[in-house]
Amino acid sequence: MISVEQAITIVENNTTATQHFETKKVVEAVGNTLFENIKSPIDMPPFRQSAMDGYALSLNENGTYTIIGEVKAGDGHHPALKKGEAVRIFTGAPVPDTANAVVMQEKTSVENNVLKIESPVLKNENIRPLGEQILKGQIALYKGTRLTPAGIAFLTTIGITEVKVYQKPKIAVVVTGNELVAPGQDLAYGQIYESNAVMLSASLHALGFNNVSTQNVSDDYKNTLDTLNEAINNSDVVLVSGGISVGDYDFVGKALEELGVEQLFYKVNQKPGKPLFFGKKEHKMVFALPGNPASALSCFYVYVYRALQKMCGNLNFSLHRTTAISESSYIKKGDRAQFLKAIYSNGKVQILKGQNSSMLHTFALANAMVYLAETANSIKVNDTVEVLLLQ
Ligand code: AMP
Ligand code: MG
Repeated sequence: MISVEQAITIVENNTTATQHFETKKVVEAVGNTLFENIKSPIDMPPFRQSAMDGYALSLNENGTYTIIGEVKAGDGHHPALKKGEAVRIFTGAPVPDTANAVVMQEKTSVENNVLKIESPVLKNENIRPLGEQILKGQIALYKGTRLTPAGIAFLTTIGITEVKVYQKPKIAVVVTGNELVAPGQDLAYGQIYESNAVMLSASLHALGFNNVSTQNVSDDYKNTLDTLNEAINNSDVVLVSGGISVGDYDFVGKALEELGVEQLFYKVNQKPGKPLFFGKKEHKMVFALPGNPASALSCFYVYVYRALQKMCGNLNFSLHRTTAISESSYIKKGDRAQFLKAIYSNGKVQILKGQNSSMLHTFALANAMVYLAETANSIKVNDTVEVLLLQ
């Protein structure tokens, strides 16, 4: 059985950024990664801009100026100033070519249309030079940049309306289990509500992966084979839930083998999520996640999320990691690495009760996972621990 670190390395080594791009409106591209370098089509700012409310003037020695007019933000005129003249000006307004400083109004006094400067003024003070942020033709953002709200605003500010971004993968979620019933129906004895498809789809959507389909399959070999075949043919990534363990009705492993999916690993020395399978068929990736809900979600965060990000160009991605002071003690049984549901706040972390892999309740309260390596045995109060942040 391989370690968590080995499994992560195998996932990373077998994931490459897609060669496909899509064109998106900039306003809809947040969370996407640029597939191209973006050159600025304009100078930004596109004109010399006032950085203050005050007076634009052509500096003279005696510090007294005649006010000859006004320029507001959005105005298109540029009055010609002679030495000893000033215009009232406001933040964002174009500074007349003939002005060589903007004096903030707090430094001035005005009487009978005559402006007096009360403290020293430097040349070019409070004037944002043309192209101060970026010059026309310069690269504004490079290929591989993940677009944040500030990123799409910056592109908008230089007049870009569409961008090429890495195409997001098409993802199929295949859920196995005879016991599963869709929410909204009555439960018969022995049945439970299906929650993994709901959980995985919600996780995917929350991360901006919207091309997601879901299929349910009963614990039957032929059915499993056919459904997985279709899912692999029609998607880039297949996430299977359940049926990958060693029970007599766990058919996923056998079906994936039959379908020619190359196994890259099966079983990781971790808790929860030991019977995790990762494989590939050509460029298509298959993760078979254990059906226990907390196992499936842990594996999603640690392995699947990483692979999906890398596929769509976000090459240096990993979950946010930090260290924290533990407010809880914990004794590990066995030698598996553990991901413990926890609540992190301000450098401290509390490990929650109820770490059983079937327990979603604990996950619903958690915002982090404490990572306990294979070699560690226990956590004491005030120990420094490694934390993966989920939000
Ligand atoms: P399996 O991995 O198929 O052996 O399932 C392990 C446990 O997880 C069993 O208790 C299942 O009933 C439960 N389980 C499997 N799939 C789901 C699901 N989609 N939603 C909720 N519980 C599930
Ligand atoms: Mg099952």
